[in-house]
Amino acid sequence: MKNKFLNFKLRKVVHYSLIICILLIQVIIAIFFYNEFVNGKKLEFIKNQLEDSRALGKLTDNSRKDFMDAQNHFQKYMVTQDDKDLQSYFQSLKNLKINFDKINDYENTSPRLKKNLAQHIKDTLQTAKLKTLIDSVYQSSLNPPAKIQDKKFEPEKYKNDFEDFNVQTHTYADTIKKKGFFGRLKDAVTGKVNVQKESTVITLTNNKTIDLSQVKSKMDNTIKSMDKHYAAEVKKVQLYAVQNQRDNMQFYSNFSKLLIYSNGLIEVYESAIKDFKSELEKEYNQQSSDNNKIRTYLVLGLMVLMFIVSILIMYFTRVAFIYERKLNAANEEIKKNLNFKNRILGMLSHDLRSPLKIINIFIDKIYRSTKDETIKDYLKSIKFTNSTLLLQSNQILEYTKNQDAEKRLIQSVFNLKDEIGSIVKVITPYLETRNNKFVITDRIPENVVVFSDNIRINQIFMNILGNANKFTENGQIDLTMLTEPVDKNNISLITTIADTGVGISESDLGKIFDPYYQGMVSDEVDNLGAGLGLNLVKEIVDLFDGEISISSKLHKGTKIIFRINLNINKNGSTN
Ligand code: ADP
Repeated sequence: MKNKFLNFKLRKVVHYSLIICILLIQVIIAIFFYNEFVNGKKLEFIKNQLEDSRALGKLTDNSRKDFMDAQNHFQKYMVTQDDKDLQSYFQSLKNLKINFDKINDYENTSPRLKKNLAQHIKDTLQTAKLKTLIDSVYQSSLNPPAKIQDKKFEPEKYKNDFEDFNVQTHTYADTIKKKGFFGRLKDAVTGKVNVQKESTVITLTNNKTIDLSQVKSKMDNTIKSMDKHYAAEVKKVQLYAVQNQRDNMQFYSNFSKLLIYSNGLIEVYESAIKDFKSELEKEYNQQSSDNNKIRTYLVLGLMVLMFIVSILIMYFTRVAFIYERKLNAANEEIKKNLNFKNRILGMLSHDLRSPLKIINIFIDKIYRSTKDETIKDYLKSIKFTNSTLLLQSNQILEYTKNQDAEKRLIQSVFNLKDEIGSIVKVITPYLETRNNKFVITDRIPENVVVFSDNIRINQIFMNILGNANKFTENGQIDLTMLTEPVDKNNISLITTIADTGVGISESDLGKIFDPYYQGMVSDEVDNLGAGLGLNLVKEIVDLFDGEISISSKLHKGTKIIFRINLNINKNGSTN
C-alpha cells in the first residue's frame, strides 16, 4: 500500500496535474478579468443607453404635456380671443418643437433609435415639417387683416342749402365694448348683431324766419347725402368681411393641421422610444445574466481547481515527509559507511608507511654497496616509485584524518627556519630519484619563532614539492622562501615552488584545486595520485588565512606561490 502511494509514475501524473491545474487557474483568472472589464463595459454601455431612453421617455411625456397645454391655450383663446392665450399656445408649441429637436439630436448619435424611428415614422411625418407648420401658423397670426378706415360723415362735402343754418354734428357710440380683431372677425362671420353702434346727431339752428317747406327739402338732401356715405361704408365692411373670412378659414385649417401633425409625431416618438427602451431592457437583462453566469461558472471552476490543487499539495507534502524520513535514514547510513571507509583507509595508509620506509632503507643500502651503474639507475626508479607510494599513503592518511577532524589549526611553538629546513631535508632524497636539480633560496630569518601548526605546514610543502618532482624529470625545482611582517603579532611566509616539468594545460588550471581532479598530463607520467593533494593544500592555506595561486605553461613548467600567516606571539589569537 505504502509503495503504491509512493509510486513514481503516480507522482509524475500528480506533478503534471498540478501544473495543468495552475495553468487552468491562470486561464480562469484571465477570463474572469476579461468578463469583468470587457463584458462589464458592454453592460455599462447598455445601461447608459437605457438611462438615455428613460430621459427620452421623459421628453415624450413632456411633449405630450406641451401638446395638451397648446390645445388648452388654443381653446381658451377661441373663447377669450386674448392675445396672451395665443402667445401661450405658441410657447407650448415651441417647447414641443424643442423636445422633438432633442430627440432628433439623440437619434443622430444612436443608430438603434434611428432604426426604431424609421420603422414607425411615415413619410408625411417629419419634424422639419412641424417647424414649417408652426412658422406658417405663427406668421398668419402676426399678419392681422387690414383695418377698416372709419370715415366720419362730413356734411360739408355734400351739397346742401344749410348756409343760413348753423349746423352741428355729434357722433355717439353705444356702451357695448369694442372687441379685438379676431372677435370682430368672428362676429362678422357668425353674423352676431351685438356690434358697437354709432349714431350721428345733426343740429340746425337758424336765426332767420323758418320756411318749413324749405327745411324739409334741405333735410331730404341731407339724409340722401348721409345714405350715400353710409352705403359706401357698409360695402367696404362687407368686402373686408369676406376677405377676412377666407384668411380665417386658412388660419383655422393650419391650426387643426398642426394639432393633428403634432399628435402624430408624438405618437410616433412615443412608440419608437418605447420599443427602443424595451429592446435595451431586454438586452441589458440578457447581458447581465450572461455576465453573472460566466462569473458563477468561473468561480465554481476556480473552487474546484483550488480543491484539486489543495489535494495534490497535500499529497506532495505527505510524500515529501516520507522521502525526508527516508533521506535522513539513508544519510545516516552513508555517514556510517563513510566513517567506516575512512577508518579502513586510515588503517591501510598508516600500516603501509612502515614497510615502505623499510624498503627505502634497503634500497639505500643496496645503492651504496653496488658499483653497477645500471643497477643504480634501477634502484633510483624503484626508490621514486616507493617514495611516491609513501607520500601518497601519507596524503590519504592526512586526508581521511582531515575529513573527520574539525577543520582548525593545532598550534605549537617552533622555529620557522628549522622546521622548514627539516621538511626540505626529508624530501630531498625523494627529489633526487628523478634526477632533478633542487635549488633552495631560504630567506627566512634565523630566529623567527612562531606559534602555529607545523604539521599542516609540512603537508603543504610535501604535497607541492611532491607534485613538482612527480611531473618533472631531469629538470630543476626551485624553492624560494621569505617572510614579511603583517602586524605586530603576525608574519607572512611567502613560498614559491617552480619546476621545469610537463606543465598544466589552460583548461585544467581552473579546476586544479577541486577534489579528485587530475589534469590531462597526469596520464603521461607515472602518476600514482588520487587528485586530492592540491585540494588539501587549498583547504590548509585557507585555515592559515592565506592565499595560493598557480601559473603554468604546458611542457615549460609550473609555478605555485602561496602565502600563509603565522602568529609570532604565543599569546596571540590570529590563527
Ligand atoms: P595528484 O594526486 O593527481 O597529484 P593533485 O591534487 O596533487 O593530485 O594534483 C592535481 C593535478 O594537478 C595533477 O593530477 C596534475 O595533473 C596537476 N599538477 C599538480 N602539480 C603539478 C605540477 N607541478 N606540474 C604539472 N602538473 C601538476
